[in-house]
Amino acid sequence: MHDDDPHPPTLERLLAQSADLHRHLCPRQVLGARMGMLAGRLLGLELPQTARRLYTFVETDGCFADGVSVATGCWLGRRTMRLVDYGKVAATFVDTRAGQAIRIWPSPQARERASVYAPGAKSRWHAYLDAYQVMPDEELLCVRQVTLTLDLPALISRNGARAHCERCGEEIINERELRRGNAVLCRACADGAYYAHT
Ligand SMILES: [Zn+2]
Ligand SMILES: [Zn+2]
Repeated sequence: MHDDDPHPPTLERLLAQSADLHRHLCPRQVLGARMGMLAGRLLGLELPQTARRLYTFVETDGCFADGVSVATGCWLGRRTMRLVDYGKVAATFVDTRAGQAIRIWPSPQARERASVYAPGAKSRWHAYLDAYQVMPDEELLCVRQVTLTLDLPALISRNGARAHCERCGEEIINERELRRGNAVLCRACADGAYYAHT
């Protein structure tokens, strides 16, 4: 970013950044960016963050998640974002310092209302793309305060935590090892893996 970048960044700038990642701009990126911006306002955080105070759970991957990332500064690669794959365009934003969390999802009326905000659009897809950029938050999005039912500090774990699986010998980081009897095992060996050796 340059010194003359507006702060907080405008939706337009965030979408340019998100579109850069994808070589296209689509309605889901807009939703992701709008959710991230709203979360910043509601939680009183300056976003996109450079620190790791905000932690985000996205409920689907794809374009949406990158819209959320550019708006919040939460990235899988920075360990400030986690995919909980419900197949939903929704996200929960956690202020890890204040212990406050909000979940945001699209209003069930958002698609229908899009035609009001983008009357001349050449297709429904274009109507969503344009309308989602200008619709007021309260028409586009739904918000609820939530509490996490998982142990976030355990999920985040700590730097430098290392173990070795006693069956496959591979290294395990982030305290993801399991204890079975006296054995320390990786999840693949303990519970079965998503792959099989051929
Ligand atoms: Zn897309
Ligand atoms: Zn193993």
